[in-house]
Amino acid sequence: LDADEFRRQGRLVVDFIADYYERIDEYPVRPAVAPGFLSRQLPEAAPARPEPDPLAAALRDVRDLILPGVTHWQSPRHFAHFAATASNAGALGEALAAGLNINPFTWAASPAATELEVVVTDWLAKALHLPESLLFSGGGGGTLLGTSCEAMLCAIVAARDRKLAEIGEERIGDLVVYCSDQTHFSFLKAARIAGIRRGNCREIPTSMKTGFALSPKALHAAVVADEAAGRVPLFLCATVGTTPTAAVDPLGELCAAVSGLGVWVHVDAAYAGAACVCPEFRHAIAGAEAVDSFSTNPHKWLLANMDCCALWVRRPAALTAALGTDHDVILKDPAAHQDGRVVDFKDWQVALSRRFRALKLWLVLRCHGVEGLRGVVRAHVRMAAAFEAMVRDDARFEVPVPRQFALVCFRLRPAAAAVGEKRARGDEVEANEINRRLLEAVNATGRAYMSSAVVGGVYVLRCAIGNSLTEERHVREAWAVVQEQATVVLATART
Ligand code: PLP
Repeated sequence: LDADEFRRQGRLVVDFIADYYERIDEYPVRPAVAPGFLSRQLPEAAPARPEPDPLAAALRDVRDLILPGVTHWQSPRHFAHFAATASNAGALGEALAAGLNINPFTWAASPAATELEVVVTDWLAKALHLPESLLFSGGGGGTLLGTSCEAMLCAIVAARDRKLAEIGEERIGDLVVYCSDQTHFSFLKAARIAGIRRGNCREIPTSMKTGFALSPKALHAAVVADEAAGRVPLFLCATVGTTPTAAVDPLGELCAAVSGLGVWVHVDAAYAGAACVCPEFRHAIAGAEAVDSFSTNPHKWLLANMDCCALWVRRPAALTAALGTDHDVILKDPAAHQDGRVVDFKDWQVALSRRFRALKLWLVLRCHGVEGLRGVVRAHVRMAAAFEAMVRDDARFEVPVPRQFALVCFRLRPAAAAVGEKRARGDEVEANEINRRLLEAVNATGRAYMSSAVVGGVYVLRCAIGNSLTEERHVREAWAVVQEQATVVLATART
């Protein structure tokens, strides 16, 4: 860690990144490479000694070998999955945290980092209009983890241990968890890790008719049936902004459906939680006052570069009872703990060591302000509405599920996609296959990159707008690519 050399090398890296952003629009969004393309070009073992000017040499390899093989997530033409929004503040916040390289597992291990996390999670909760009960200032509290998967695991383990303390550990096999068939797969993974039997994970079916939102009535029926069978309802994972279509589960009604039954309600708002910075989207979390925990990924739509997931809980004691470790007194500062206000974030997560994520989020909030974040969300939603309008204007296409936030799900209509007799019947299987080919053709152009989902048996293309560099012209061009490729795919299907 030589300061002068760091300055010199740091400039090289910053210039490299700035040049990349200047040219990012020129790269095909998705690389056309075959498996093994990179390993073939790299030596089989690490160099025994550094090369002359190794950083410059490595940066040349990043430019010539690595960049041609990456999917450019920050490309303004990347519309796949959900975005991982980036910003100068997010990237530089990461750099600052990496430079300081501290490990704030307890308050004593880095008092300022811990306190900044307390402050910044409260700031973010206020910005998102979360219920006061989830804030430190309201008796709850938040922490910054890497991903939503970790947040779900922490929440479910807290709920499990609280319940088992009540009913006895031997009944772990009776615990039942609930979600919808649209819930992210990470929830079932977390449930498995937490020891919930596979047969006790209820994925409640949803339908196109209800916009793929979880039905409170169906949830209630499932919970009551489990109780009647002697099982123990434990946990509901409700989603605000599901992965396939950004559907919103009705939090208030779902909480009411399990009220008094001892079910921990967690909200996975990985993507759409960010939209709640705008008062006009606050309705998406109406009823959140009764939830036990809530998580969202500021790295998805709030300009905080990878990685950053905020998890809030109403009763931190449940989390620390499950994840806390107290035989490590050496890590703690007993004097600081005496006033009862000290948080040791190692007891809020699976691992001991942790990153100083609060610094990045704090920088993002200071550099953009809540109004700045609202502007980002609104611009993306406006562009998505414009994309949706263009889709609706072309009679070959339809928007089978309502647009939510900045995600448009669309497809070629079965009647346009199918051929011959099948066309007359509007054959769904044929339509799915044609739409799959359409997505492949669009992505192969390198001029736009979208993803897909299958909902209610229907294959849809997903256009998720959320990148910092995306402008209206990119959205218009993406639609032109879709139209052009649709014409080719349909013509090929008919020959
Ligand atoms: N939940 C939802 C609704 C998501 O869309 C995703 C990923 O896109 C996740 C959870 C998983 O997020 P992570 O990668 O942060 O674990």
